Amino acid sequence: MSARILDGKLIAEQVLAECQDGVKVFREKHGLPPGLAFVRVGDDPASIVYVGAKAKMCERLGIQSQTFVLPADIPEEQVLELVGSLNQQKTIHGILVQSPMAPSIREDAVFEAIDPMKDVDGIHPANLGKLVADNATGFAACTPAGVQQILVRSGIEIAGRRVVVLGRSRLVGKPLALLLLNKGGQADATVTVCHSRTRNLAEVTRQADILIAAIGKARFVTAEMVREGAVVIDVGINRIPDPSKKAGHHLEGDVDFGAVVQKAAAITPVPGGVGPMTIAMLMVNTLKAACLQMGKG
Ligand code: NAP
Repeated sequence: MSARILDGKLIAEQVLAECQDGVKVFREKHGLPPGLAFVRVGDDPASIVYVGAKAKMCERLGIQSQTFVLPADIPEEQVLELVGSLNQQKTIHGILVQSPMAPSIREDAVFEAIDPMKDVDGIHPANLGKLVADNATGFAACTPAGVQQILVRSGIEIAGRRVVVLGRSRLVGKPLALLLLNKGGQADATVTVCHSRTRNLAEVTRQADILIAAIGKARFVTAEMVREGAVVIDVGINRIPDPSKKAGHHLEGDVDFGAVVQKAAAITPVPGGVGPMTIAMLMVNTLKAACLQMGKG
């Protein structure tokens, strides 16, 4: 049996259409668009692509975006200064500092300099704290929020089910585990988080009703690691050198799609799964930030 393909692009279009309506109402009510600032430090090729795609989506939805590109050798204080000045600007409601930055810059210091009310990437400790406290006024990181929406909008039950998350990063694994663990209609799962020190990994992953891979290793999750009939969400984006492609590479997820698709009940592809949802949820978070800062609406 071949798994149902969970089309992240299609689900993202639903989310974006709703968000676009919200942006229209916001503009009519406040006479200005929601504003989002991107900060990119250095010339990481993937970051250039990601920020470009996010800025393009802002344009499509009527969100005003500005991209600040800083040289890789810029001193950390100057990045902090820029973030500080963006915090003060009333027409900028969201700030996204793209990772990775240059090794000389302490990413934590930069993330913590963002006003939590403008932290649309959900990376500030105040927002991570709100996630722990199950407080809806915070911002959940976009990729975890996107994974949750894929499950919810595909009609996949989360409550009471066993979720195994592979990966414990600050931006993906940990917030995702918390989102699905929290109380309420779109969560209530029993969650296990695995990482590079987890023993007998395959034994743990085989217990999952919903298995989510976010580790950054191409085709790491094999069919043997997946229970028959499980739902598999592949967050991984791995660039595999490929001279036959114009870009010189193709993308693969963390899941061995060709084998796992035969065993799972449902699965997200790469590309076209979680990626489009990440951008959609960034738009949603930006509109939410703008509404909160303008006092609802
Ligand atoms: P990360 O910060 O490198 O974290 C990777 C996590 O995987 C770590 O917790 C690590 O464990 C764990 N891990 C590594 N090797 C492992 C192994 N052999 N067994 C078990 N766990 C292992 O990566 P990330 O930022 O979370 O991103 C993960 C993947 O998702 C990457 O491919 C990234 O490109 C992709 N991504 C996609 C989107 C999207 O929009 N689709 C967004 C963000 C990220 P330790 O903590 O023990 O080191």
